[in-house]
Amino acid sequence: MLLTLEDAQLMDKKDSLHRFRDEFYLKPNSIYMDGNSLGLLSKRAERTLLESLNDWKEHGIDGWTTGRHPWFFLSEKLGEMLAPLVGAQANEVIVTGSTTVNLHQLVATFYKPEGTRTKILADELTFPSDIYALQSQLRIHGFDPETHLVRVKSRDGRFLEEEDIINAMTDEIALIILPTVLYRSGQILDMKRLTAEANQRGILIGFDGCHSIGAIPHSFSEWGVDFAYWCNYKHLNGGPGSVGGLFVNSKHFGTAPGLAGWFGSKKEKQFDMEHALTPADSAGAYQIGTPHVLSLAPLLGALEIFTDAGIENIRVKSLKINQFLMDLLEQEVANMGFMIGNPVEDFRRGGHVSLEHKEAARICKALKENGIIPDFRAPNIIRLAPVALYTSYTEVWEVVQILKKIMTEKQYEKFKNEREVVA
Ligand SMILES: *Cc1c(COP(=O)(O)O)cnc(C)c1O
Repeated sequence: MLLTLEDAQLMDKKDSLHRFRDEFYLKPNSIYMDGNSLGLLSKRAERTLLESLNDWKEHGIDGWTTGRHPWFFLSEKLGEMLAPLVGAQANEVIVTGSTTVNLHQLVATFYKPEGTRTKILADELTFPSDIYALQSQLRIHGFDPETHLVRVKSRDGRFLEEEDIINAMTDEIALIILPTVLYRSGQILDMKRLTAEANQRGILIGFDGCHSIGAIPHSFSEWGVDFAYWCNYKHLNGGPGSVGGLFVNSKHFGTAPGLAGWFGSKKEKQFDMEHALTPADSAGAYQIGTPHVLSLAPLLGALEIFTDAGIENIRVKSLKINQFLMDLLEQEVANMGFMIGNPVEDFRRGGHVSLEHKEAARICKALKENGIIPDFRAPNIIRLAPVALYTSYTEVWEVVQILKKIMTEKQYEKFKNEREVVA
């Protein structure tokens, strides 16, 4: 059956999350499809940022303990708000650092090479920053990353097979670091299964949740995941450079932080100023220094929206609107050289569509000229993310119609097929 504009409009009418759209700053005559790289500003996030600025204006140093959002407890409070999104207890999550810094902290804490177990297992499709961090951590321990960083191969350059990862969990592996959702293909790894297999072998396992946080539900505690880390500026809409997050399973509370600092102290001990650290008995122990308060503040408002909307509802719409996009692509631009490079099964796909085309770089430029914001990942991927909280089905319809026009009129030919500095 042919999908029509009326179908899109009807789906918008029936969409229980449609009301959240008005809470975001959407540009007129522009369709934002890049919420998987940088989520949009909401009015609530703007409000909590301005309130925190005002706390500074009004209270000066006393803003640490008084005012609307006392800064001394902000990281813990945000951890509590985030916990339901990752399936954790409140004290297992802290908002601190950034993705890469938190990975360094967690590897410094939990990578303990011993006897023949000295290697770290990752995969060849992982985000480069994670790889750089792991390579440097291995060097700090005196190991050669060439031999000690094992990268599971992809069979097709897009996906990873859980079976291949499990087969690589040998008795030489001390630690496993994997993405929850692959940043290019949007594949969800079976975290529950991988964690069970790692646990069984006595190997610690940690996940990079950048592309799943705020898009899909997780059960980190229940699955027995040892730790996880992520950024809060993608699906969570915390703002550019927003402070990141980390999860440490309560079974590891008491493990001394690899990279210690005074903000990892027990709150009531921190200002005793002793030279012996008394770490918090929570994920808070893995904080290092003074939190970046103004990059935490927008998260208060941003996360309120997730509390209201519910991550289960977000996932339902995300699956549906991404499916609508895939169906429309199939209907409108099949035989124009496109290939859908994300998994098609619901249980295996994350929050974006990964569209491959050999002219991808310049098709993205043509999309931008037409008011659509996609993102490009070299060499040939157009990532399109219809976001449950603010993308409408009608917009998805328009995106595909414009894409079809660009292809039919070969509008992309006037651009160079090269990426920009920030792609
Ligand atoms: C976005 C992203 C990062 C970014 O790390 P930062 O430290 O926040 O710059 C890391 N890993 C993955 C998988 C990402 O998607």
